[in-house]
Amino acid sequence: MNFFKNVIYWNLCDQNQKKKILTRPVIFLDKNIKKEVSNIIHKVKQEGDNALEYYNLLFDKVKIKTLEISIEKINNAKLNIKQDIKNAINNAYYNINKFHSYQIYKTKKIETTSGVYCQQIFRPINSIGLYVPGGTAPLFSTVLMLGIPAQLALCKNIVMCTPAPISNEILYTANLCKIKKIFQIGGAQAIAAMAFGTNSIPKVNKIFGPGNAFVTEAKKQINNQKENISIDMPAGPSELIIIADKFAYSHFIIADLISQAEHGVDSQVILLTTEEKIAKEVINGINNQIINLPRKDIIIKSLNNSYIIITKDIDQCIQISNKYSPEHLIIQCNEYEKILPKIMNAGSIFLGNWAPGSVGDYASGTNHVLPTYGYALTYSSLGVSDFQKSMTVQELTPQGLLNISNTVEIMSTTEKLIGHKNSVTLRSEFIKKKLLLNKNNDKYKNNINKIAKKNIINLIPYQSARLLDNSRFDHILLNANESPITPIFKLIKNTFNRYPEPQPKRLIKNYSNYCGINVDNILVSRGADEGIDLLMRTFCNYKSDKILFCPPTYGMYYINAKILGIKINAVKSLENWQLDLNTIKKTLDNVKIIYICNPNNPTGNLINQNDIIELLEITQGKSIVVIDEAYIEFCITYTIVHLIEKYSNLVVLRTLSKAFSLAGLRCGFVLANKEIINLLLKVIAPYPIPEPVSDIAVQALNRKNLILMHNNINKLMNNKLWLIKNLKKCHVVKNIFPSQTNYVLTKFFKSNYIFKKLSQKGIIVRNQDHNIGLSNCLRISVGTDYESTKLISVLQELSSY
Ligand SMILES: *Cc1c(COP(=O)(O)O)cnc(C)c1O
Repeated sequence: MNFFKNVIYWNLCDQNQKKKILTRPVIFLDKNIKKEVSNIIHKVKQEGDNALEYYNLLFDKVKIKTLEISIEKINNAKLNIKQDIKNAINNAYYNINKFHSYQIYKTKKIETTSGVYCQQIFRPINSIGLYVPGGTAPLFSTVLMLGIPAQLALCKNIVMCTPAPISNEILYTANLCKIKKIFQIGGAQAIAAMAFGTNSIPKVNKIFGPGNAFVTEAKKQINNQKENISIDMPAGPSELIIIADKFAYSHFIIADLISQAEHGVDSQVILLTTEEKIAKEVINGINNQIINLPRKDIIIKSLNNSYIIITKDIDQCIQISNKYSPEHLIIQCNEYEKILPKIMNAGSIFLGNWAPGSVGDYASGTNHVLPTYGYALTYSSLGVSDFQKSMTVQELTPQGLLNISNTVEIMSTTEKLIGHKNSVTLRSEFIKKKLLLNKNNDKYKNNINKIAKKNIINLIPYQSARLLDNSRFDHILLNANESPITPIFKLIKNTFNRYPEPQPKRLIKNYSNYCGINVDNILVSRGADEGIDLLMRTFCNYKSDKILFCPPTYGMYYINAKILGIKINAVKSLENWQLDLNTIKKTLDNVKIIYICNPNNPTGNLINQNDIIELLEITQGKSIVVIDEAYIEFCITYTIVHLIEKYSNLVVLRTLSKAFSLAGLRCGFVLANKEIINLLLKVIAPYPIPEPVSDIAVQALNRKNLILMHNNINKLMNNKLWLIKNLKKCHVVKNIFPSQTNYVLTKFFKSNYIFKKLSQKGIIVRNQDHNIGLSNCLRISVGTDYESTKLISVLQELSSY
């Protein structure tokens, strides 16, 4: 049996025949449909929910009291679907989300003339309506294709309508896309309801989604109304062109033609090939593939208005395809890379033998809402920008206005719009007068910012505790997590005319003995802070690479990246301040370094070691994982230095500033495998460690002093217990977070008030109120007995009011 009535030799066709072949079949729209849709729209507009109830009964034969699906039912949908279906939906969601997230526009300020800045900014369309067809086959894939770009565009109000009964797959998928307002109503009446709003269904600004002839007609009609409703794109029957050369497999071609024809009797499929042999194989082989398909009748009908066209060469195929502008275009040719640049009009393109249309319909990542019926000439595939609109912005400096004023004045004068001219002239004269006044003063001023890097000019620097001018000598300083205990050291060496050793050997030897890892795996730095910076400078490219960290955490990761112009991926910690591994895994693209502070500053908690290990596993060969162990001596059993041997991408940062009571020394360590250390050595300054620093650090690491250090830790940990016990008794305290360190994060009822009062009494703590998730929190370093007692007495006093 031959399904293709139409096998055509292109070169044998005359102009008229060619034109006829490339003209789409006229969409035959019943006049009755037009009239009926118009009636439905009118009735919904007039009677609102009552009309919807009426139509649900009339068309879908269901009696429905409440149109909206309860949140409970949406949440429970996951319990009623098989796990393999859920997995498939999740996979598709991941891919589509990943692809579409790259469509989010970055705003960029462009300086068109010196001092004249223009930018285009993007805002979500506030309220959008999604229509998802229901019936025998629930199209949950459409939920993904509409819901994901809407979610990425940050649309505030998303309404979804779909006919009753709504399948669990649709509800589950909607929930994934954070769609919570779901109504069981279908057809033209659903479109009308979203366009005009009813008591239960909110009015929207733009309506998206496919549907039958009634839905399509309703979208067309409401688009012409005065209510400011837009629609996604004009809809028509689905289409496919396949271009095949002699390297194509005819049974793949047949399968693709069928899968397209299956959509509906009005679908159109066209095979363009240079090979007569392939055309014959397709014609002879198609019956075998159709015979057992459930939608056989539809397929046969739709193949009847389709063509196989034999051309003289590939360029002719391209020419025909460009003219036709198909919704789907599959290029089963050996050299498809050479063909793609010549394709000018198509909705979605599938390259080679391994990209069937179905992968784009469901899960490769691209959108399946595409322009049909020749609209690919001017319309695009649905994307994030369809859910947004852009605004343009301009901003001028005084000099910028002067630079451009002449141009505007001449143009507006020539167009005889003198009002326009004046709005510029008035200002430029004002500026010139003022400039003249300030000319002499300003000549040497304000020029440096023109030279400096923009990211530095705009930088808010690290608010180091010592910078705050309340660090007076008689103050109690509990704001920098330093040790309150003062070890006494004397310099052994006292001549300094020679440069120091770049990496002092004895110091490294002593630190190696102390922490149990090899001397080759140690780099000495000016504090752990220098390690943070060195790693970024060694591993991250300006503007393209990212670092990842998990707020709330130590502030220098962020600031260092800002200084160096490295991008930032801040993945908020979970409620319990553990790593949000799921989000981290999804956002590792271009991440070169992950900074994890363990125990974390300022929260004081430990990070699950299993999570760190999982992170190390998944980042092999992709990212460096830096564990900042600045406070590890207070809970030394949790160190992971021993894993350096196993994981080549692990870096551990250490310091003498905290438990060693040597914050004034500025000495820290980077511990990592040899390759990393060698790279860092290329970047670090030539003589980073001053002679006196290594002199004292060597002493601090000898046996006797290590014992003293451990005693000090014990003393501080006892003080901490006393402090926590007494903080609990203060009424101004709301909550004390468990700490493995020498500080306690404490939540107050009114932290800013407490902070101020403590400062007035000369007790300085660290305000964390501004930090993510830490509202009303103060971080209190554990001080001496005396300091703790003083702090508690002030807090008790404040509690008694
Ligand atoms: C204090 C601190 C540092 C900086 O240590 P230095 O060795 O003094 O530079 C690094 N990371 C964290 C988490 C810190 O709290």
